[in-house]
Amino acid sequence: MKIPFLDLRITDAQERVELLNAVGRVFDHGRMIMGPEVAELESEVATYCTRRYAVAVSSGTTALFLALKSLGINEGDEVITTSLSWIATANAISLTGARLVFADVREDLNIDPDSVRRLVARRVPRAIVPVHFSGKVCAVEELAGIAQQCGAALVEDAAQAFGAQHQGQVAGSFGKLAAFSMNPMKVLGACGEAGMVVCDDTDLYERLQALRYNGTVNKETCIEKSLNGRMDTMQAAILLQRLRRVSQGINTRRAIAKMYTALLKDIVGTPMDYQGDIDSYYSYTILADRRQELKNFLLQEGIETKVQHPILMSKQPAYAQNAVGEWSTAEKVVTRILCLPAHDKMSDDDVRFVASKVREFYKA
Ligand SMILES: *Cc1c(COP(=O)(O)O)cnc(C)c1O
Repeated sequence: MKIPFLDLRITDAQERVELLNAVGRVFDHGRMIMGPEVAELESEVATYCTRRYAVAVSSGTTALFLALKSLGINEGDEVITTSLSWIATANAISLTGARLVFADVREDLNIDPDSVRRLVARRVPRAIVPVHFSGKVCAVEELAGIAQQCGAALVEDAAQAFGAQHQGQVAGSFGKLAAFSMNPMKVLGACGEAGMVVCDDTDLYERLQALRYNGTVNKETCIEKSLNGRMDTMQAAILLQRLRRVSQGINTRRAIAKMYTALLKDIVGTPMDYQGDIDSYYSYTILADRRQELKNFLLQEGIETKVQHPILMSKQPAYAQNAVGEWSTAEKVVTRILCLPAHDKMSDDDVRFVASKVREFYKA
């Protein structure tokens, strides 16, 4: 493989020392769970997201699930989300017992507010859960307006969008609550599973703290059924270090994206870059005709690409039988999406090489 889709090895000597030292400090104090690094990370992430509170948890899936649980979402409630996302979004909603309704997407791959409006008119949901797909903030103002009008909570699935911005406001600061994934692939990634919930409301914050540890308060008393969703201290220690380099990573991917778009915009659908917004480019996703052929061709040339995500959530075997909602545009775009490699181990020449091979494919 000349150009892998992602390379998670830690090769930078300086970064390696920083991370090893951070882990070493955890070895020294021995508080492997809920050690001091967890609270420190929560405080830094809350500040970063312009929020009062952050609650560190064991994954992005757990973050979204507990965010919804903290609102009291249950059987009998309805929750609207997008049809195009990693299946964790649907699972987190569905496991609360709520009835899941899928909304369609726009050409920019984010949830379509017009579709949400139509669905809300049929039945008022308890929550609307948009995803900032591939690191691009969705139409948050419109969605917040719809949510407010019908009395639903806006809960951001910001798993792919740490550090993204819309008109100067950071992803994760728009909804009643927001959930982040911090797994190694994500914009701010640990060396294992991790996630975070952010919010401003003190009651929700206290509820989340109980929910992340078997619904307990005061160490022993269980006030609500839940699971264990705490973040390891070691992952928190690593994330504290990684947080210092997060904007560097975003800038690198944005520079790669800019190059790709300049080299490819006349030949494939390139990501829309909205004036005044900062896309964190969790992935650089093009819309390509003959997608599978292109993918195979690039692989032969040593270029690894990915389809994030090839199956609409509403079409997954676990959901297809009872899926309700709208997804006609999503169904069209999902056959054309392809993520090109875009990461900090790529040189400008690598980016030009990938782009030239894409061009070569369409000329042939
Ligand atoms: C990654 C992801 C999740 C789940 O996060 P995990 O940390 O892998 O559990 C949820 N939603 C979206 C949109 C994601 O990309």
